[in-house]
Amino acid sequence: MTSPSLKEIRMKMDALEKEVLLLRSILEAIRDPFFILNRKGEFLKVNLKGLELLNYSPEELQQMVFIDVVALDDISTMREGFDEMEKGREISLNLHVVNRLREEIPVECSGTPRGEACLITLRDLREKIRLEEEWERSKKQFTEKIRERDQYARELQAMRDLFKEKTKEIEKMREEAVLLSHTDDLTGIYNHRFFIQQLTLEVERQKRYPVPLSLLMIDIDYFKHYNDHNGHLAGDEALKAIALLIQHGVRQSDIVARYGGEEFAAILIKAGKEEAREIAERVRRFVSETRFPNEKEQPNGDLTVSIGITTFSPSTSTLTDLIRKADHALYRAKRAGRNRIEG
Ligand code: GH3
Ligand code: MG
Ligand code: MG
Repeated sequence: MTSPSLKEIRMKMDALEKEVLLLRSILEAIRDPFFILNRKGEFLKVNLKGLELLNYSPEELQQMVFIDVVALDDISTMREGFDEMEKGREISLNLHVVNRLREEIPVECSGTPRGEACLITLRDLREKIRLEEEWERSKKQFTEKIRERDQYARELQAMRDLFKEKTKEIEKMREEAVLLSHTDDLTGIYNHRFFIQQLTLEVERQKRYPVPLSLLMIDIDYFKHYNDHNGHLAGDEALKAIALLIQHGVRQSDIVARYGGEEFAAILIKAGKEEAREIAERVRRFVSETRFPNEKEQPNGDLTVSIGITTFSPSTSTLTDLIRKADHALYRAKRAGRNRIEG
């Protein structure tokens, strides 16, 4: 047997070198950490990614077995994995490896038996887990934001409802206050101020829409006498009753007010002289026909009213004219014996 020539040896070495280079470039082309282990689990080959992940130098790894870099809790799982590969089966496990810096790194470990060796690929799951956690956090934050928004919307609606309710209450109180400011405390009918306001409005309206307009001034006859004989409280009751009788005597649309003391006024809208007279007569009659306590003691044996009437006209076209003329008419009614109508 002839020994191989130098040339042959060189050719074989070249081929071997090429093979080694090819193998190395294949190893480095694998993007995940990759290990070739022997039966005992010792590291035969490790690519750069593998070194980076485990943080050991190739020399250090040569002194170790794969189980050395598996986290304590996962060692039995990995051992079972090796048993499987012994039987020629491929494995895929999720476990933790521990690097030189004692960092536990979650990985997906794929193993393939190849003759006397096994090929191990680790996929670093840190980024995946980080993304999953971030996703979970975002989801939680989003849900929280939605919950906050719903809560805010509910609170806003409650506040709106409350505001609406309060506005209604305030409006009602305002209306009540306005009504009170227009009302006479004792009799509950309109007061002097409201009477003047309304008469001013009606006189103004006459300039734009002239309609018949009359005014009644109504005064209780010998009321001082009634008070003196029956007491102030009985006088008050009579005042209230007469206020009601006047309201019944006029029409719904007319405005009845307490002018002051025992004197009342009524604004008769769309009532000319004749109609005003009829209304005044009805009022006078109602009062006269009503039986008041002790009215027999009155100077004329009856508690009555006298009424002065005036009607809007070119010569009586201002508020003061109207009131003055009605007052004069009332005075005449008193002079003529009371319980009567003048104007
Ligand atoms: P005349 O027929 O001329 O109108 O006589 P009179 O007594 O009614 O008139 P006078 O003006 O002399 O007296 C009015 C009385 O009315 C005096 C006052 O005590 C009484 N009076 C006025 N306001 C009230 C009130 O709110 N309650 C009571 N009880 N009496 C009142
Ligand atoms: Mg009087
Ligand atoms: Mg009087």
